[in-house]
Amino acid sequence: MVKKERKLLIVDDNIDFINFIRKALGDEDYKLSIALDGNTAIEKALQETPDLVLLDLKLPDLSGEEVLERMKKGNKDVSVVVITGYGGDQVAVDMMRKGATDFLTKPVEPQILIKAIKNALEIRDAQQEDKQLDLFPSLERFFPFFAHEIRNPLHAISGALTIIQRRSNLSDEILAQSINIIKEETQHLNEFVQECLNFVRPVQKVRSVEVDINEVIYVTLNIITHIFENESKTVRVVTEMDPNLPKIYSNYEEIKQALLNIIKNAYEAMPMGGELWIKTIQESGSPRHVEMIFVDNGVGIKKEALPSLFHPFFTTKPLGTGLGLAVCRRIISERNNGKIFIESEEGKGTTVRVRLPIDRRLEDPLEKTDGI
Ligand code: ADP
Ligand code: MG
Repeated sequence: MVKKERKLLIVDDNIDFINFIRKALGDEDYKLSIALDGNTAIEKALQETPDLVLLDLKLPDLSGEEVLERMKKGNKDVSVVVITGYGGDQVAVDMMRKGATDFLTKPVEPQILIKAIKNALEIRDAQQEDKQLDLFPSLERFFPFFAHEIRNPLHAISGALTIIQRRSNLSDEILAQSINIIKEETQHLNEFVQECLNFVRPVQKVRSVEVDINEVIYVTLNIITHIFENESKTVRVVTEMDPNLPKIYSNYEEIKQALLNIIKNAYEAMPMGGELWIKTIQESGSPRHVEMIFVDNGVGIKKEALPSLFHPFFTTKPLGTGLGLAVCRRIISERNNGKIFIESEEGKGTTVRVRLPIDRRLEDPLEKTDGI
């Protein structure tokens, strides 16, 4: 994948600080532009359409607030990270209310600066993606609107929470717990929005590469142990991978997403622990395909729920989104010409089978002549 060079506009009248930023970004691939005062900054933000603006609030001509407002007026999608002097938290909160993506306090550590820039760019990318999805009808039209409306306040909540956390006495147990609840719930909402977006992600975004299914399963299991830290102690995973499994030609991230949704469901079905057995095999039918089998001995599924499993928003969990399997079906069947089957018995467990065809491009050329 070709990495896009990002345009950064640095707005600050302090040459030392500009040089510090330049140095901090040393190896990173950014195209920098500088504005030493507010008026130049507003002009450059319009003309150069930077991906991100780093805005110092103390400028010789205009207040940072005015600069932010006028930049947003010229282009409401401009992404701005505000940099304040020590003790400027209140101003920072006001600025975030006016549409800044994040704020940093001087002096700032180089790693924190780089991380903030990357985060802000990620948020911007997500917002651009939301906009692209606007082309899709009905349900697909609703999600981007929805994502946009939810993500922005969520980001403001996270920012404000960082300030609360920094200024609070966390030895107060109730306060610390309350902060954690807000954090967890914010994260849950963020994940929900992400799942909605995964569901409607347009097909043209799909990029195919050689994918080693065994490897994706191991990577996914690794992610799972982080998500389900507690459950991982009581869920035993047994793998039986075909060492000669051919690679398939597909979109790595999407396959990982689908397998993550399946394995997540298995873990969620075994809150008191259990066993998850994962097997991969190569099938010689036509077209040639690989098969993955996931067997858990969790709570299982009621007979009457089986026909609804792949419907968007069908869930039996209090905090479920009901989008996991809908996304799986979209990725496996619609995008990869594969199949997904689920068998289950309430109280006994569930078996999920996934079949994915091996793209011709990866087949042995000798085998291609078979049958001719
Ligand atoms: P969610 O996990 O958010 O509920 P999914 O689309 O991933 O949404 O799953 C839909 C429903 O299918 C779940 O709520 C659950 O009832 C059922 N389900 C899926 N996988 C399993 C499993 N391994 N064991 C038991 N139930 C499952
Ligand atoms: Mg799920």
